[in-house]
Amino acid sequence: MRFKTRVIHDGQPPDAATGAVSPPIYLSSTFRQRAPNVNQGYVYSRSGNPTRALLEQALGALEGGAGSLAFASGLGALATLLESLPTGSRIVSVDDLYGGTWRLFEHHRRQFDLRVEYADLSTPTARETALSGRADLVYVETPTNPLLRLVDLRATVKAARRMGARVVVDNTFATPALQRPIEYGVDLVLHSTTKYLGGHSDVVGGALIPRRPADLERLQWLQNAVGAVPSPFDCYLVLRGIRTLAVRMRAHGESARAVAEVLDDHPKVRRVHYPGLSAHPQHALARRQMDGYGGIVSVDLRTNARGVRRFLAALSLFTLAESLGAVESLVDHPASMTHASVPRKEREAHGVTEGLVRLSCGIEDPADLADDVRRALRSV
Ligand SMILES: *Cc1c(COP(=O)(O)O)cnc(C)c1O
Repeated sequence: MRFKTRVIHDGQPPDAATGAVSPPIYLSSTFRQRAPNVNQGYVYSRSGNPTRALLEQALGALEGGAGSLAFASGLGALATLLESLPTGSRIVSVDDLYGGTWRLFEHHRRQFDLRVEYADLSTPTARETALSGRADLVYVETPTNPLLRLVDLRATVKAARRMGARVVVDNTFATPALQRPIEYGVDLVLHSTTKYLGGHSDVVGGALIPRRPADLERLQWLQNAVGAVPSPFDCYLVLRGIRTLAVRMRAHGESARAVAEVLDDHPKVRRVHYPGLSAHPQHALARRQMDGYGGIVSVDLRTNARGVRRFLAALSLFTLAESLGAVESLVDHPASMTHASVPRKEREAHGVTEGLVRLSCGIEDPADLADDVRRALRSV
């Protein structure tokens, strides 16, 4: 079955007991046992819940994994994953990284002897240098946040295998609608379902999708032991979001293209980052590896902090807010918002400048979004 069909049907069958087409939300925290340890598959909702099971089934199927595990947030998923690493493990990660992921890596580095190295994995030479020696995990975002660099999944998996390392991909930006890392041999996919999977800015959630059944089992044990699980209602909201994922991702892509074209070659723009533009250094890889280019466009404006402030204030359809990936357009200033926890020197060294603005293009009419950006640029 094709993806557009699967987002409607994978893990979303009519309810077996009642025929309800929309899944019921099982709020129960506990389940009756006929005799001690004789149950109907559910015992206690931290360990397992029927609404959560549907979401986990859907996400596992869409990413092509052995199954999946849902969490209360993307960082809750990451924290549980880090719990699975032995003390002294070594991670090689991309240097352009979600700020909260960086913050948690650094905490584990200081607190639990995790060795973390950040490298540019977007060019073959940098990748081959970074992926040598020994490592336990290679942690990748592609496209990266906020600079929208791509990492070649096939080549990274190959290099990681040589090091004896597993590869984890944070697939939040692309979603399985545009990119399915497990098809490239990636071992584990992570999501912040808060973003495109939920899609409506009304739920915070996360997920882990392992390729191997043994990893699923190990992480399942930790999911229950750590307990960073989502509520049944939150699971329902993400399931509901998934049903429109395919059509939304196509619409996000159309919006982002319209916005990127306004920014491209504009005199007030130093650089626009969007993998769908033929000028993007990895446009060819994006075409090969993805089924579309996504809804995020970052732009480096030729201005100072005051000019950026004026640009943000002049936008009327893009709401200034953290987060991304919902039906409404949002705008973020990474240096002072999402990436403020990364020290300025480190931030600027890899391109997160004061002039950088990240646009999450919603599914409004692309022409209105393009007009809004064009108008706001006049105030810079
Ligand atoms: C938001 C985000 C996260 C963190 O997820 P939360 O649900 O906010 O905890 C991780 N990775 C990426 C790429 C994100 O955008």
